[in-house]
Amino acid sequence: MNDYFIRCENLSYIYEDTGESAIPVFHPALDGVSLNISRGEYLAILGHNGSGKSTLAKLISMILTPKSGKIYIDGTDITDETLGEDAQYELRRRVGMVFQNPDNQLVATVVEEDVAFGPENLGIPSDEIRKRVDDALSLVGMQDYKRHAPHKLSGGQKQRVAIAGIIAMHPDIIIFDEATAMLDPIGRRDVLAIMERLNREDGITVINITHYMDEAARADRIVVINDGKTLLDGTPDEVFSNVPLLHEVGLEAPQSAELIHALREAGLVINSNAITPEGCRDLLIRLLSGGDR
Ligand code: ADP
Ligand code: MG
Repeated sequence: MNDYFIRCENLSYIYEDTGESAIPVFHPALDGVSLNISRGEYLAILGHNGSGKSTLAKLISMILTPKSGKIYIDGTDITDETLGEDAQYELRRRVGMVFQNPDNQLVATVVEEDVAFGPENLGIPSDEIRKRVDDALSLVGMQDYKRHAPHKLSGGQKQRVAIAGIIAMHPDIIIFDEATAMLDPIGRRDVLAIMERLNREDGITVINITHYMDEAARADRIVVINDGKTLLDGTPDEVFSNVPLLHEVGLEAPQSAELIHALREAGLVINSNAITPEGCRDLLIRLLSGGDR
């Protein structure tokens, strides 16, 4: 036994709903993924469209049930069919999920009611709900919008309200499934800052599913999923040192890592890697002043 907070063992999932197609497709969306995540970790998940990232997120947050394999959260087997309703509800509370489109997550006509929705469903007393709503809205910097209509907010503001709704449930884990993909640069920066503050200051385990390499580079660890399987699992430095492999599966590395790779391809001897503009700058300064040792 080990004490990983989230343990996924050999997870597989096949969608049986074939949508418009009359011919069933039995290609697994997830095919034997094993993944351990520590409490308080900041993990990024990368992978091109259709690689299985959202499926994995939905399995961890109990929206879907795996066809085979096990998931343990804080020692509890969440795939156990004999789990009582209360235990399932409690597990769902502990894992929050923020989706790509903020419009699909907002349910009420007033911001504060939206944030209160989750705790109300938990049967929390109204004084406590009011406090949770205020705290959550302050945390995402939306306290001044309490009585506003969500549909009048910008995409980034809506996403911050959606995050407040999750925070008000006091989760241990938040999965952001391409939560910044539809936002403008400012909205994206704000949401990323909130994600990182929740991780660093509140100890919330954060899983950021993203297609932005610069976002992934900020995480403690990156897992690359390809065709329903884990392709790479390591620190950003480790993962982004595999530029050719990333290209092979239709991904890129951060611009800095791409530049170092291109310089190496051109014949320059460079021993270290750089995944941020600052790291790239320092490495180039070293190179220009006599080589990288
Ligand atoms: P990602 O999030 O990495 O883009 P998904 O987990 O959404 O990937 O999808 C993985 C695979 O499962 C894809 O081949 C996708 O077409 C398929 N898939 C996803 N959702 C459904 C669904 N509701 N019904 C049928 N197939 C699905
Ligand atoms: Mg997805």
